[in-house]
Amino acid sequence: MKLSEIGEFGFIKRVAEKAQNSAGVVIGIGDDAAVTSPTAGMALLSTTDMLVEGVHFDLSWSEPRTLGRKSLAVNLSDIAAMGGIPTYALLSLALPKNLSLDFLDCFMSGFLEQAARFNVALIGGDTCSSRDGLVISVTLMGEQYRQKVVTRNGASQGDIICVTGTLGDAALGLELLRIGERQGFAVSRQLDPEPRVEFGKLLADRLLATAMIDISDGVAADLGHILDGSKVGAKVAVDKIPLSDEYRELIGRFPVARHSLALSGGEDYELLLTVAPDTFEQLLQSGLDSGVRISAIGEITAEEGIFFENSDGSSYDIDLYGYDHFK
Ligand code: ADP
Ligand code: MG
Repeated sequence: MKLSEIGEFGFIKRVAEKAQNSAGVVIGIGDDAAVTSPTAGMALLSTTDMLVEGVHFDLSWSEPRTLGRKSLAVNLSDIAAMGGIPTYALLSLALPKNLSLDFLDCFMSGFLEQAARFNVALIGGDTCSSRDGLVISVTLMGEQYRQKVVTRNGASQGDIICVTGTLGDAALGLELLRIGERQGFAVSRQLDPEPRVEFGKLLADRLLATAMIDISDGVAADLGHILDGSKVGAKVAVDKIPLSDEYRELIGRFPVARHSLALSGGEDYELLLTVAPDTFEQLLQSGLDSGVRISAIGEITAEEGIFFENSDGSSYDIDLYGYDHFK
């Protein structure tokens, strides 16, 4: 069945039937605006991300269900990077007229499954037609006590720079997809990323991160944002960058420097954070408590700019693979 057979309102009705409200939702999908009650004393966090067919995803290898999961995951990751608790989502879709209803149903079940995992209620959105390609825009709200919110601006000289998980897998996954691979760890990191929501919140609760960002554009670029925000510099030990077994095994297939995708490939959605040296042990303990791998990759310095160093202390020349939409 085609979308044109049920129309915009038929589709919205279908979505409304499947969306589940949470405790704070006073009025969900169906009126001119949603109504929610904020948790007393908490600040509101808002973030939005757009996914455009041909720019952010390719329907020749994206399953609609995982695309639904990912479109919420990238937003969840932004709330995680602030140490926030995700609450409500708005979903806006520009849909090609010939899109099948089956595709949309699978997309929505992936989106709502991800929402349910993180206790997020879908409370509204917008639906229109697109003349060329699918466009997905998700707005996600979250909350946290103002004093606990973790920004990009709090890093200071001597802080230790840490990352969660392993880096470069998602970019490697994209390269593998481009040469026809459809399965495996790296491919699933690209298509179905897992946002670090619980861990981001834990760091905020324990006041452990002096600055934090999620790694969407590669650690080199995203560390740059922390440095700009905090007006400091950094020294990064390239051999401390955590690499997965699959990355170590497969990176040799591509004509790039071994650490290239790990340093400047995007979409890992891991957390990059700075921690004061006297709470570093507590951070490691939090990682152990949560089953999250923590790697210290460098140190914040007073002089601005990033210095990447080899294990012998010499300078490492980074070749930037990262993605700037307008360059
Ligand atoms: P309006 O004309 O007032 O913008 P719409 O007809 O666009 O209203 O939307 C009707 C209701 O359906 C609203 O509550 C809106 O938030 C919701 N809605 C529309 N599209 C979506 C969507 N893709 N996902 C979730 N809710 C949606
Ligand atoms: Mg509308």
